[in-house]
Amino acid sequence: MTTPLLVIASRNVKKVGEIAELLAPRGVDVRSVSEFDGVPDVVEDGTTFGENAALKATQTARILGQWALGEDSGLCVDALDGEPGIYSARFSGEEATDQANNQLLIERLADVPSTRRGAHYVCHVAVSDPEGGVRLSVEANCHGRIVDQPRGENGFGYDPHFLLPEYHRTFGELAAVVKRHLSHRARAFERLIPELVGILGG
Ligand code: IMP
Repeated sequence: MTTPLLVIASRNVKKVGEIAELLAPRGVDVRSVSEFDGVPDVVEDGTTFGENAALKATQTARILGQWALGEDSGLCVDALDGEPGIYSARFSGEEATDQANNQLLIERLADVPSTRRGAHYVCHVAVSDPEGGVRLSVEANCHGRIVDQPRGENGFGYDPHFLLPEYHRTFGELAAVVKRHLSHRARAFERLIPELVGILGG
């Protein structure tokens, strides 16, 4: 039997790496959309993580005529009324870098005491069939706190500032294998994988 192909509708190398690791043991041939020519960037104009995940999955699937997975994720900070939320990647502007986003986050929290630093990551995953029909849709969270000083080099995005209180470590400090079990992405895929494998027949 041939290995089923699933295109990940993301050009974020670190995010695709985490998704590939989560799916690797499941016999699915995971490719980034970056490996294919002529696929325009998806305009993320949804108003929720779920809408954006579906847009990424369905547009990529239709263009390539392949099964595609769209993942939309972000950080929701309690003291900022859920910001940056769906705008996490471009919090500090269209040309945002992780460093600029983190700097803005800490600036915005300057007057917020350590007792009110709660936040959670959200991950929404949608899977589209090659015709552009959403076949699976799952969302999961991971709760933590924001710390001012960046800690650790692992992960990406806001991870050096995202502390898991039970572990006394940020995702920047925790090993990749630990993030692979605890994160919002891990929790979403834990629920998605049995159904995905059933559909793709991997
Ligand atoms: P998306 O690629 O449009 O879904 O944007 C995701 C953005 O949310 C990333 O660029 C990060 O800023 C943030 N983000 C999502 N997941 C994580 C994570 O696991 N660690 C750190 N930042 C994350």
